[in-house]
Amino acid sequence: MRLIGDILRRYPWQSVAMLVALLAAGAAEGLSLGSLLPMLSIASGAGADAPLPAREAMGFMGDWLRRADWQPTLGLLLVLIVAGITVKGVLMLVAQAMVGNTAARFAAELRLAMLRALLASRLDHFLHQPLGRLGTALTSEVQSTSGAFVNAMNALAFLIQALIYAAVALAISWQATLTGLAAGVLVIGTTSALVRIARHAGRTHNARLRGLASRLTDVLLSVRPMKAMAQESLADALLVAENRRLQRAQRRQVLSAAALTAAQEELFALVIALGMYLAIARLGMPFTTVLVLVLTLGRMLAQLGKVQKEYQKVAIAEGAYLALAATIDEARAAAEPPRGTREPALREGIRLEGVHFAWGERVVFAGVDLDIRAGSFTTLMGPSGCGKSTLLDLVLGFQQPAAGHVTIDGVTLETLDVRRWRSMIGYVPQETLLLHDTVLYNVTLGDPALGAADVERALRQAGVWDVVRSLPGGLEHVVGERGGKLSGGQRQRIMIARALVRRPRLLVLDEATSSLDQDSEDAICDTLAALRGELTILAISHRPAFAAISDRVVQVDRLARGEPGAVSDAGGNGYGNSGSTPA
Ligand code: ADP
Ligand code: MG
Repeated sequence: MRLIGDILRRYPWQSVAMLVALLAAGAAEGLSLGSLLPMLSIASGAGADAPLPAREAMGFMGDWLRRADWQPTLGLLLVLIVAGITVKGVLMLVAQAMVGNTAARFAAELRLAMLRALLASRLDHFLHQPLGRLGTALTSEVQSTSGAFVNAMNALAFLIQALIYAAVALAISWQATLTGLAAGVLVIGTTSALVRIARHAGRTHNARLRGLASRLTDVLLSVRPMKAMAQESLADALLVAENRRLQRAQRRQVLSAAALTAAQEELFALVIALGMYLAIARLGMPFTTVLVLVLTLGRMLAQLGKVQKEYQKVAIAEGAYLALAATIDEARAAAEPPRGTREPALREGIRLEGVHFAWGERVVFAGVDLDIRAGSFTTLMGPSGCGKSTLLDLVLGFQQPAAGHVTIDGVTLETLDVRRWRSMIGYVPQETLLLHDTVLYNVTLGDPALGAADVERALRQAGVWDVVRSLPGGLEHVVGERGGKLSGGQRQRIMIARALVRRPRLLVLDEATSSLDQDSEDAICDTLAALRGELTILAISHRPAFAAISDRVVQVDRLARGEPGAVSDAGGNGYGNSGSTPA
């Protein structure tokens, strides 16, 4: 079972320490159990002062005590019983504290491993993860997995106890013990189908939970059009169906656990009744011996049953663990490839040289050249699907050309430190996703290196400072969920301020104004025109307003087809085309 194997591999020392504590606790319990037979034999005799009963009636503890020259009196035996139970209690507490600690650590490490693997994965991997799935992994799957660790350790503790009971019983009657063990194995074998059912139900349950969470996030992301068209009932039907499937899987889990308990109790009672009949009616064993055998073997069977029940819980949680492990493994497999270490600067410009790129079968670029000079304002145009965003992906290093190079100041991106390169870029996406936090946080994203002065400068540059200042609380004003309390234009300007606050060398806008009204767009164009020359700007836009303020317009569809006239020195004031390369 992968879960248990992984845990043992991850925490070898803790596992050994827990095992030792459990074994010691078991030994202490064995001691107090072993005192039971002599104690009962003495107690059932003629009173505390009577001569000692025969050797057979005293069991192994009687032998040990005599060999150690201790008189096995009722008082001593009772003290031993209580001492054994006390020591066992303390050791069990220690073992359980260790288990709890390790389980909490295991959960924390799993969460961290998942978050790190995701953040280090390629952008396209990240983008294809359903949000709900990640949420389920981070919460319920981690919880189930660390719970399963506790269950696995409980199973181990119960197994050790069962073996101790077996050892004590063995010292009294090996025939009875072997028969009891065989019966226990038979009972567990008979009921193992219930563990299989539970394991399957656990997997289904986890898959349904992921499904429901993914659906719910999908619905949340498109709630406005859905409500606007009175289509909530469709979402409701979808969620209800998913929820009902989840309920069925949960019911199977509960039923299989209850059935296991009932079946075990029934079968164990049968085994014990048969055993007692054999021992008393057929073999004529003394009553105290039978009583102790029933006590020890009965507890042994009960503990074996608990091992199986704990194992069933581990089996239920296995689905959650496997799903979580798959999420982590997939993210690790999609890690961004390690790249070069050279420092980028962007003093001369960005070039695409003979770039070939395809998404699977779809060839987007087959040998494309493009020159973007530092300090220039370039607008990429062209019909949807012609490769504008793909071109940006290549410049950002999210994708690598199959042939050819993307170079920064003549140095290919492959040999540059791509994270340093990206730290020089300000990026404004089409969809404005503000976080439910203050304006300040939305601009800095929590970067401690940025202060209020940087934020004010960026907001001024983005032309939204006056708006922010008039908000209640100013920079500390909390924008609504996804920025719902601000207008589209204001939100987009805050996104521009976020891009500008780190003083980027390159500003990238991917259809940043396509969802804005004319006035907002004009205002943003004014902002960009004012920034022109200070930094390199690369924008995707369909709007003529952009062509008017840019130095160059690239028709990406023509560029991709290798047609002439793809690049025109349009609009603007000829800045950046004069051959000068402003820094
Ligand atoms: P644009 O931004 O110009 O609208 P894109 O660069 O997004 O176009 O897409 C160019 C082509 O590549 C399209 O045919 C699109 O279907 C395809 N494409 C884009 N992204 C992916 C992707 N992640 N996986 C597969 N194909 C993609
Ligand atoms: Mg696009």
